[in-house]
Amino acid sequence: MELSLVNSKIFEILQTATKKFVEKAEAEIADKDYRIASPSQNKIVSVTKSRIKNALRIICPRSTSQLKSDVIQHFEEVRGLIPFCSSPKSFRTAWSLRSEALNPWDANTIVDQGGQLIPTNTSCRIFQCIQQGLELGKNRRLILAVRHSEGNYEDKMDDLGRFTYQPPNNVAGMLRYRWCEFLSDSMKIPYTTLAVMWFKVHQPINEDLTHVFVVAPAKIIDYHKNLKNFGISLNRPLDLQIINRTDALSILNLIFSLNETDIEIETRFELSEQLAREWSYDKINNTEKGRKIKRWARKTGKKCPGILCKNGPHIEFKDLSPSVISFGHIVSRNWAKAYTYILDKVHHPDNLYLTCRSCNSSLGDTFPDKSFRDNIVKFGTIGDWLRKNEPEIRKS
Ligand SMILES: [Zn+2]
Repeated sequence: MELSLVNSKIFEILQTATKKFVEKAEAEIADKDYRIASPSQNKIVSVTKSRIKNALRIICPRSTSQLKSDVIQHFEEVRGLIPFCSSPKSFRTAWSLRSEALNPWDANTIVDQGGQLIPTNTSCRIFQCIQQGLELGKNRRLILAVRHSEGNYEDKMDDLGRFTYQPPNNVAGMLRYRWCEFLSDSMKIPYTTLAVMWFKVHQPINEDLTHVFVVAPAKIIDYHKNLKNFGISLNRPLDLQIINRTDALSILNLIFSLNETDIEIETRFELSEQLAREWSYDKINNTEKGRKIKRWARKTGKKCPGILCKNGPHIEFKDLSPSVISFGHIVSRNWAKAYTYILDKVHHPDNLYLTCRSCNSSLGDTFPDKSFRDNIVKFGTIGDWLRKNEPEIRKS
């Protein structure tokens, strides 16, 4: 085994995750018939312990090094397809056409909204008319794409691009859904796949170009409920949400960063856009929301990450009056003005931390130094606190 395989974080994550997943599946799933919702009639899948064992051999084999290379290759394949993806808005429009054929006016609307119509390509399965709903990745470990065709059972998509996707009617197919969710939880990064639709073109260009494809990245959401007990959740659908290309690329980058051998920084769940907006600097500085954070930090024994506090390093916030507790920026506001590419993120909760006034004003426009930063990472950014303690902070 190569040394680098052992050292990378993804290797460790997969090693622990496969072990736990196998144990959990074997303990929780008993011999039983499961019903899968379908448009015509419900299908029955009979699940037995030995079928679960066989499915586990495909999905999470004992050899972690093989699995790791399959998983990385899988996400590289997804990344390669991102440039061909459409915007969430155009994808929703395409979804709501509910028609097999695409007329020139609808096609025009989709393209105007940031959609891309990809012609059939006989050497890529994503861009071929295949009836099978799911497209699997390398060695059938993971889900590369979900195909949507008119008339699926649960084919509603809401305004935020959320939809559910029923499992295939076989044991490995159902278990793979839970594995993808389990992996999201283990990596602390939402699993990302592709959603695909195809249409017959109004006027075929030639005998090979009769169909076009609309593709968008989608991430798994709301999965914690399905991880509690696989015996209960085995036949549940996947909850997915269409995301834009930039978000997909940053999620995939996080996954690839787990494959770096010398990574020191722990990766985090991306904070939902809604939370990020609700708790951005302008919403918490000198507001009741901000006071909630300060009260919570005082109550839970949080400390200033700096060392220039009034009475020595790392003063506890409970020993300070709230008026001398500030929200510090890791990347300063003026720095962001000089390099405008970061302007839209400067007030993001992950760029903010709680600090005493002395430490904050000593920084001016410079960055916290290495030990200061290490302590911010250790004590938590505002974003970190929201990830773990949002309900308690709201109640404070
Ligand atoms: Zn301080």
